Amino acid sequence: MESFDVAVVGAGPAGSTAALAARRGGADVVLLDRSDFPRDKPCGDGLAPEVFDVLAALGVGDAAAGYPAVPTLRLVSPGGEVVARALHAGTRTIPRQVFDHRLVAAAVDAGVRFRRHRVRSVEQLGDRVVIDGTFTARVVVGADGAGSVVRQALGHPGNPPGHVALAIRGYAPAPAGPPEQRIVTIPGRWPAYAWSFPIGDGRANVGYGELLRGEALTRGYLLAQLGALLPDLELDAATDWRGHHLPLSTRRPAPGRGRLVLAGDALSLINPFTGEGIYYAVVSGTLAGAAAAGAVSATGGADVADRYRRALTRRLGGHLRHTAVAARLGRWPRLADAAVRAARDDQRVFDTLLAVGLADGRLTPAALWRIARRL
Ligand SMILES: Cc1cc2nc3c(=O)[nH]c(=O)nc-3n(C[C@H](O)[C@H](O)[C@H](O)COP(=O)(O)OP(=O)(O)OC[C@H]3O[C@@H](n4cnc5c(N)ncnc54)[C@H](O)[C@@H]3O)c2cc1C
Repeated sequence: MESFDVAVVGAGPAGSTAALAARRGGADVVLLDRSDFPRDKPCGDGLAPEVFDVLAALGVGDAAAGYPAVPTLRLVSPGGEVVARALHAGTRTIPRQVFDHRLVAAAVDAGVRFRRHRVRSVEQLGDRVVIDGTFTARVVVGADGAGSVVRQALGHPGNPPGHVALAIRGYAPAPAGPPEQRIVTIPGRWPAYAWSFPIGDGRANVGYGELLRGEALTRGYLLAQLGALLPDLELDAATDWRGHHLPLSTRRPAPGRGRLVLAGDALSLINPFTGEGIYYAVVSGTLAGAAAAGAVSATGGADVADRYRRALTRRLGGHLRHTAVAARLGRWPRLADAAVRAARDDQRVFDTLLAVGLADGRLTPAALWRIARRL
């Protein structure tokens, strides 16, 4: 049996950042994934600039190399209101095959041990956690995504209908014209939207996602919705169609218990407005890794769950409260229309909405007032 201070299950953005942060904190770390890297992950590949701030603080300065910033976002509300405005410098589309591989490589360069291994069982035995009878660690970070095995070991089921979305994505020829991120929402099925995110290599990541309400959604239905909302896309020429679930932050389990903690999608941290999850994955991963290293050196790992819960509440607690309220309000399509009208009138409202939808922003009284006036 191989023995480590910290074992991280899953090497997506949450797992790689957790492994890096734990390693930077002085821990001996193993990073386990069922796949070898590079590997694909169904995703819109849209990355807010704040993601790169978190990575830079971990010493990963080159995660965006070769991928240009997308200058504009065009957003169509459920009622057909349109806003097109400048994005914060540094919003990019980077295929996960590239992005995730860069993060794993940074972790390995920092001294993290990577093992290809599909985790099936996680047991807390005394002062250690045993994984499949093959690895032991003082602390385990579960960063194994939407179907997390570590979350199941903690006794938490997946998110129920109303708190989980389904989305499909493919790679299509980029639409003609200047590069812009396009998001088109839909009346009737709201919250739901189609997107087209240019990558900068002649392709765009395109897709459609919708909140699950209990009924199954077929691939044919999702693709038909995408074609109807973005009719100029050449979907016949698109490749690599893949779908996946998005556990939304409106229903989250406790972040950890004993020597097990959860990060990223395993903790249901996806933004309920936008489906953005990578920012929350790298923030929670970083906090989980730092808590793991701190707990191992202070208490042999025993207090990791408390440390992590406190750090997560400090960093994301206010934002998560705001998004929970905003998600309830935002399900009213007229309010979403008013928000888009207000964002068209005022760059500050646009920026506030982006910060709430893509990073750890909060709804300001000024933005709420401007939206209310446009109802
Ligand atoms: C279609 C779609 C579009 C999206 N678009 C965007 C977007 O544009 N921007 C954005 O920010 N977010 C987007 N998201 C959400 C984003 O993809 C996730 O929030 C993000 O991947 C979460 O990262 P993670 O590290 O928590 O999990 P993941 O990226 O899912 O990584 C989990 C890792 O764990 C591994 N794993 C799983 N089970 C096991 C096991 N038993 N043993 C070992 N390894 C295991 C997997 O192989 C994987 O590498 C989208 C999601 C979907 C489905």
